[in-house]
Amino acid sequence: MANIRDQNSWVHQNEPEKATEKAKDLVRMAVAKAALLQPLEEVNLSITPSATVIGGGISGMTAALELAGQGYPCHLIEQAPELGGIANKLRTTATGIDVQSELARLKAEVEADENITVHLNSKLAKVDGFVGNFTSTIKGPDGEIQVEHGASIITIGAKELTPTSYGYGQDDRVKTNLEIDAALLDGSLNPAEVNNAVFIQCVGSREPDHPYCSKVCCTHSIQNAMTLKKENPACNVVVLYRDMRTFGERELLWREAREMGIVFVRYPDDNKPQVQVEDGGIKVVVYDNYLKRNIVLSADLVGLAAAIESHRDQELAQMYKLSLDADGWLLEAHVKLAPVDFATDGVFMAGLAHYPKPIEESVAQAQAAVSRAITVLSRKEMTLPGTVASIEKNKCVGCGVCVEVCPYNAIDIDAEDGLAVVNSATCKGCGTCVAACRSGAPNLKGFTEADIMAMVDNL
Ligand SMILES: Cc1cc2nc3c(=O)[nH]c(=O)nc-3n(C[C@H](O)[C@H](O)[C@H](O)COP(=O)(O)OP(=O)(O)OC[C@H]3O[C@@H](n4cnc5c(N)ncnc54)[C@H](O)[C@@H]3O)c2cc1C
Ligand code: SF4
Ligand code: SF4
Ligand code: SF4
Repeated sequence: MANIRDQNSWVHQNEPEKATEKAKDLVRMAVAKAALLQPLEEVNLSITPSATVIGGGISGMTAALELAGQGYPCHLIEQAPELGGIANKLRTTATGIDVQSELARLKAEVEADENITVHLNSKLAKVDGFVGNFTSTIKGPDGEIQVEHGASIITIGAKELTPTSYGYGQDDRVKTNLEIDAALLDGSLNPAEVNNAVFIQCVGSREPDHPYCSKVCCTHSIQNAMTLKKENPACNVVVLYRDMRTFGERELLWREAREMGIVFVRYPDDNKPQVQVEDGGIKVVVYDNYLKRNIVLSADLVGLAAAIESHRDQELAQMYKLSLDADGWLLEAHVKLAPVDFATDGVFMAGLAHYPKPIEESVAQAQAAVSRAITVLSRKEMTLPGTVASIEKNKCVGCGVCVEVCPYNAIDIDAEDGLAVVNSATCKGCGTCVAACRSGAPNLKGFTEADIMAMVDNL
């Protein structure tokens, strides 16, 4: 192709004579390259029409049910003894859906579905292959089994940070929001016995170690505060916050909470509340930004909006050649154009493992990931383009630079000869390895060094 349009007529509209000369150059260069071109071979690969889903929380169960519902068998791999993940401890969503009954329904549907094989107490031990043709080794209580599959969805979720401040661990009445949910669910916390409750926001989030907002905790604290106030209207409930991030319609909950008499006090970033556990009582001292003075609150329940932390699962990332961001969250291929894809083809993501998000967002993302996976699984075979890199082994010294720079993880160092080898099923022909190698060993078919130098000579 002599790209006269993009590289010439559009950019030199006001210089027609010079543009004509440049067009001649471009044509001469294209002809020089065309004379050297070698045929490109496309490779056809068959697809195994089944999937693995790693992590059996709400995202994983939703993904498994969606896949199964569209006729694709899947293996749901969960490291814990039961499905459900974090949702096992949650009471309601922001719109008031009862999480436990929804979870029970999902678990029953997953267990009854013949297309879903659930592996509890299990983890991935190894993944071989590439898009359409993966072989995964699952390690469970009965040993290892191997499964063939065409795609994978990663839904490994996240965890609640264990606070190290605000008296946490010194007194059982200082609890995280998840612990308050669990205690309300199992009846060990009786709102009628709580007279003074204080919630502290941003515990660990938006700090140097976890610089992001955990997104769900403002709403979560408000929901727990409202439950206490509804069940025991005489209870004094105060929420200490930095910024109230009740996004979207959650803002209505915040308004309702204020109308119920729940008090909100904004504390400054550089003057955090102090929790003092002493003589059987709990005191919370907070500097009120508006009154410009300290307020002392006594509390018989302190709720901490603890940050959500990633699992930072390097082992799994290594197996699938996935990227994690600086905070350990799974990194998507492109934030706008491929938000549930990875750079590794055939592998998709959903849920908390990507960034903190509420249940409904995790469910929507799981459905999106399944839609993307089905674009692979629904094909009988896929054709791989011929414009891929290959390595001239006699020039390669096995330094590994190309392995590091390849954005698609398509190069490995061969264990036998210690030299680079390109997986043409995953190579996207971007040319990065060609530019990076100081030995000139990689060549991109259709863009060989001879092709490029012939173009330069003719220019
Ligand atoms: C502290 C906290 C508070 C929250 N509060 C709210 C709230 O109030 N409202 C709301 O809507 N949402 C809330 N959420 C978010 C909500 O829990 C999730 O959006 C939803 O449950 C979906 O989670 P998930 O399935 O993506 O991940 P998880 O629930 O974390 O499930 C992931 C599963 O993967 C398993 N797993 C992990 N690693 C592996 C591995 N390598 N191999 C196999 N299995 C693995 C885990 O054991 C777990 O079962 C909260 C989350 C947290 C952490
Ligand atoms: S959601 Fe609220 S409490 Fe949670 S990190 Fe963000 S601002 Fe802080
Ligand atoms: S960068 Fe070049 S020399 Fe180094 S391993 Fe890759 S192909 Fe071989
Ligand atoms: S051409 Fe790009 S995708 Fe292919 S092996 Fe080289 S760096 Fe990787």
